[in-house]
Amino acid sequence: MSIKIVQKGHPALHRPADTVPIHEITSKKIQKVIADMKKALATQSDGVGLAAPQIGIPLRIFIVSGRIFDESFERGKGISEAQQEPDLVFINPEITKLSKKAAWLSEGCLSVRPLYGEVKRSLNATVRAYDEHGVLFERGAGGLLAHIFQHEVDHLDGVLFVDKARNIEEHIPESYASKS
Ligand code: ZN
Repeated sequence: MSIKIVQKGHPALHRPADTVPIHEITSKKIQKVIADMKKALATQSDGVGLAAPQIGIPLRIFIVSGRIFDESFERGKGISEAQQEPDLVFINPEITKLSKKAAWLSEGCLSVRPLYGEVKRSLNATVRAYDEHGVLFERGAGGLLAHIFQHEVDHLDGVLFVDKARNIEEHIPESYASKS
Protein backbone atom coordinates (compact mmCIF):
# COMPACT_ATOMS: atom_id res chain seq x y z
CA MET A 1 0.00 0.00 0.00
CA SER A 2 1.36 3.38 -0.85
CA ILE A 3 1.57 5.98 1.88
CA LYS A 4 -0.09 9.27 1.05
CA ILE A 5 1.76 12.53 1.53
CA VAL A 6 -0.87 15.01 2.67
CA GLN A 7 -1.10 18.54 1.30
CA LYS A 8 -1.48 22.01 2.79
CA GLY A 9 -4.88 22.27 4.47
CA HIS A 10 -4.61 18.88 6.20
CA PRO A 11 -5.01 19.53 9.95
CA ALA A 12 -1.84 17.58 10.87
CA LEU A 13 0.25 20.14 8.97
CA HIS A 14 -1.14 23.12 10.83
CA ARG A 15 -0.81 22.19 14.51
CA PRO A 16 2.17 21.49 16.73
CA ALA A 17 2.92 17.76 16.66
CA ASP A 18 2.96 15.68 19.85
CA THR A 19 6.11 14.50 21.63
CA VAL A 20 6.81 10.78 21.28
CA PRO A 21 7.03 9.09 24.70
CA ILE A 22 10.65 7.85 24.88
CA HIS A 23 9.66 4.36 26.01
CA GLU A 24 7.46 4.05 22.91
CA ILE A 25 10.21 4.73 20.37
CA THR A 26 11.01 1.04 19.93
CA SER A 27 7.32 0.02 19.94
CA LYS A 28 5.71 -1.54 16.88
CA LYS A 29 3.51 1.50 16.46
CA ILE A 30 6.34 4.04 16.25
CA GLN A 31 8.60 1.74 14.22
CA LYS A 32 5.76 1.42 11.70
CA VAL A 33 5.39 5.20 11.49
CA ILE A 34 9.12 5.47 10.75
CA ALA A 35 8.96 2.68 8.15
CA ASP A 36 5.96 4.34 6.49
CA MET A 37 7.78 7.68 6.40
CA LYS A 38 10.81 6.06 4.72
CA LYS A 39 8.53 4.37 2.19
CA ALA A 40 6.72 7.61 1.42
CA LEU A 41 9.96 9.57 1.02
CA ALA A 42 11.48 6.90 -1.21
CA THR A 43 8.65 7.39 -3.71
CA GLN A 44 9.60 11.06 -4.14
CA SER A 45 12.63 11.29 -6.40
CA ASP A 46 13.09 14.95 -5.49
CA GLY A 47 12.45 14.52 -1.75
CA VAL A 48 15.23 15.16 0.77
CA GLY A 49 13.30 15.05 4.04
CA LEU A 50 9.89 14.24 5.50
CA ALA A 51 8.11 14.98 8.77
CA ALA A 52 5.49 12.63 10.27
CA PRO A 53 2.67 15.22 9.93
CA GLN A 54 3.25 15.00 6.17
CA ILE A 55 1.80 11.49 6.24
CA GLY A 56 -1.00 12.73 8.49
CA ILE A 57 0.58 11.62 11.78
CA PRO A 58 0.98 14.45 14.30
CA LEU A 59 4.12 13.17 16.04
CA ARG A 60 7.50 14.85 16.46
CA ILE A 61 9.50 12.71 14.04
CA PHE A 62 11.33 13.67 10.86
CA ILE A 63 13.66 11.82 8.54
CA VAL A 64 16.35 12.94 6.13
CA SER A 65 16.92 10.96 2.96
CA GLY A 66 20.25 9.18 2.78
CA ARG A 67 20.39 10.23 -0.85
CA ILE A 68 21.71 13.65 0.12
CA PHE A 69 24.93 11.99 1.27
CA ASP A 70 25.47 10.30 -2.06
CA GLU A 71 28.37 11.75 -3.99
CA SER A 72 26.29 11.79 -7.15
CA PHE A 73 23.46 13.70 -5.46
CA GLU A 74 23.04 17.10 -6.94
CA ARG A 75 20.67 19.47 -5.29
CA GLY A 76 17.70 19.86 -7.56
CA LYS A 77 18.45 16.84 -9.67
CA GLY A 78 18.39 14.00 -7.20
CA ILE A 79 20.17 10.79 -8.05
CA SER A 80 19.14 7.99 -10.31
CA GLU A 81 20.90 5.17 -8.47
CA ALA A 82 18.78 3.33 -5.93
CA GLN A 83 21.77 2.61 -3.70
CA GLN A 84 22.16 5.12 -0.94
CA GLU A 85 23.10 5.76 2.65
CA PRO A 86 20.41 4.93 5.21
CA ASP A 87 17.88 7.63 6.00
CA LEU A 88 18.49 9.56 9.23
CA VAL A 89 15.74 9.54 11.85
CA PHE A 90 15.13 12.38 14.33
CA ILE A 91 12.58 11.89 17.12
CA ASN A 92 11.55 14.74 19.44
CA PRO A 93 14.19 16.95 17.78
CA GLU A 94 15.24 20.22 19.31
CA ILE A 95 17.39 22.77 17.59
CA THR A 96 20.13 23.52 20.11
CA LYS A 97 22.21 25.88 17.98
CA LEU A 98 21.58 28.15 15.01
CA SER A 99 24.24 30.25 13.36
CA LYS A 100 23.68 33.98 13.23
CA LYS A 101 24.80 33.80 9.66
CA ALA A 102 21.69 33.29 7.59
CA ALA A 103 20.53 33.59 4.01
CA TRP A 104 17.33 33.64 2.01
CA LEU A 105 17.31 30.17 0.50
CA SER A 106 14.95 28.67 -2.02
CA GLU A 107 12.78 25.87 -0.81
CA GLY A 108 9.86 23.71 -1.75
CA CYS A 109 7.84 21.15 0.15
CA LEU A 110 6.33 17.78 -0.68
CA SER A 111 3.14 19.03 1.03
CA VAL A 112 2.97 22.37 -0.76
CA ARG A 113 3.35 21.36 -4.37
CA PRO A 114 4.08 23.02 -6.70
CA LEU A 115 5.09 26.19 -4.87
CA TYR A 116 8.57 27.48 -4.20
CA GLY A 117 9.77 30.45 -2.24
CA GLU A 118 12.68 31.94 -0.35
CA VAL A 119 12.96 31.50 3.41
CA LYS A 120 15.57 33.04 5.69
CA ARG A 121 17.51 30.15 7.18
CA SER A 122 20.62 29.89 9.34
CA LEU A 123 23.56 28.45 7.45
CA ASN A 124 24.51 26.11 10.31
CA ALA A 125 22.26 24.28 12.73
CA THR A 126 22.60 21.68 15.48
CA VAL A 127 19.81 19.30 16.42
CA ARG A 128 19.47 17.08 19.47
CA ALA A 129 17.09 14.15 19.01
CA TYR A 130 16.48 10.48 19.69
CA ASP A 131 17.26 8.01 16.93
CA GLU A 132 15.00 5.09 15.99
CA HIS A 133 16.62 2.95 18.71
CA GLY A 134 15.79 5.50 21.41
CA VAL A 135 19.36 6.77 21.71
CA LEU A 136 19.84 10.50 22.27
CA PHE A 137 22.30 12.14 19.88
CA GLU A 138 23.30 15.54 18.66
CA ARG A 139 24.23 16.42 15.11
CA GLY A 140 25.56 19.65 13.71
CA ALA A 141 25.31 20.50 10.06
CA GLY A 142 25.84 23.14 7.43
CA GLY A 143 24.53 23.54 3.93
CA LEU A 144 21.60 21.46 2.74
CA LEU A 145 21.36 19.38 5.93
CA ALA A 146 21.16 22.48 8.15
CA HIS A 147 18.48 23.83 5.84
CA ILE A 148 16.48 20.58 6.06
CA PHE A 149 16.71 20.57 9.89
CA GLN A 150 15.02 23.96 10.06
CA HIS A 151 12.34 23.11 7.48
CA GLU A 152 11.44 19.84 9.24
CA VAL A 153 11.36 21.27 12.77
CA ASP A 154 9.01 23.94 11.42
CA HIS A 155 6.74 21.12 10.22
CA LEU A 156 6.65 19.72 13.76
CA ASP A 157 5.58 23.15 15.01
CA GLY A 158 2.76 23.30 12.45
CA VAL A 159 4.57 25.80 10.24
CA LEU A 160 4.90 25.48 6.47
CA PHE A 161 7.56 27.32 4.50
CA VAL A 162 4.86 29.33 2.70
CA ASP A 163 3.92 30.81 6.10
CA LYS A 164 7.27 32.64 6.18
CA ALA A 165 8.50 32.73 2.59
CA ARG A 166 8.96 35.61 0.18
CA ASN A 167 8.79 35.51 -3.61
CA ILE A 168 6.46 32.51 -3.64
CA GLU A 169 5.91 31.21 -7.12
CA GLU A 170 4.81 28.17 -9.03
CA HIS A 171 7.56 28.35 -11.55
CA ILE A 172 10.04 25.58 -10.82
CA PRO A 173 13.63 26.46 -11.63
CA GLU A 174 15.40 23.15 -12.08
CA SER A 175 18.10 23.97 -9.61
CA TYR A 176 15.59 24.50 -6.81
CA ALA A 177 13.84 21.19 -7.14
CA SER A 178 14.79 19.59 -3.80
CA LYS A 179 11.87 19.28 -1.43
CA SER A 180 11.35 18.22 2.12
ZN1 ZN B 1 8.08 20.21 3.87
